[in-house]
Amino acid sequence: MKPESAEPGDATEALVLRRISYGETDLVLQLATRRLGRIACFARAAKRSRRRFPSGFPSFALLEIHVGPPGRGEALRPILDAVVVRPHLRLPRDLPCYAAAGLLVEVAREAFPEEQPEPRAFDALADALHRLDAGPFAWGELLAAELRLLAPLGLVPRLGSCLSCDAPVPPRRAACFDVARGGVICRRCGGADRTLDGAAREQMLAALAPVGELEPPPPGPDADPRPLHDAHRVMVAFLEHHLGRRFRSARLLEQVAASR
Ligand SMILES: [Zn+2]
Repeated sequence: MKPESAEPGDATEALVLRRISYGETDLVLQLATRRLGRIACFARAAKRSRRRFPSGFPSFALLEIHVGPPGRGEALRPILDAVVVRPHLRLPRDLPCYAAAGLLVEVAREAFPEEQPEPRAFDALADALHRLDAGPFAWGELLAAELRLLAPLGLVPRLGSCLSCDAPVPPRRAACFDVARGGVICRRCGGADRTLDGAAREQMLAALAPVGELEPPPPGPDADPRPLHDAHRVMVAFLEHHLGRRFRSARLLEQVAASR
């Protein structure tokens, strides 16, 4: 017989993607996890228990959880216990960083496949939240975080060469970007109605390049925020088109970034 261990079930790092109140005291949670992929869980008495669960399952905190197997005939796994590994308490006090973190979580909710482990995408999300918690906000870093999150999931836009004829875009040259087709289109192939600034495009490519291939910009404030902000608008349009959802945090980020 199996002994009653204090920590049974599968252990994994996790981030809360969505929280839904269920009854008086329970929570249904959608989680990104490192080992189990995106999973839906049930936390019984989560609003009462302070011993087994962190209070309210805080947004953006890196958690270590134990989950049981999915129950028969239903998809929800029970969460057996959870602890906060990195609380990221500064995030809610810095509005641009907070909105950016919200956007990454919204994107992860749509992009992470269910019950399929994607440890690289999970690490990219966890690292990005950790960096945003340290601040300050920078468009270049947010773009890099989005691309690193999407790359392992096969969802990055084409940035280096024309989608239609495969002609490479010269380094640091601006390029037309077709949101619906998901990448750059050269002028010979008809171009597109949006433009990606050359330096911003280079910075985005560097974020995706294997170590040592392209020099990624050092993390920190944007050298020139305007073109990176414009490139981020293109990125949001691309994401909303391909993931089929409007991202509320993207609107919030536009508002708080404009009022800075
Ligand atoms: Zn072309």
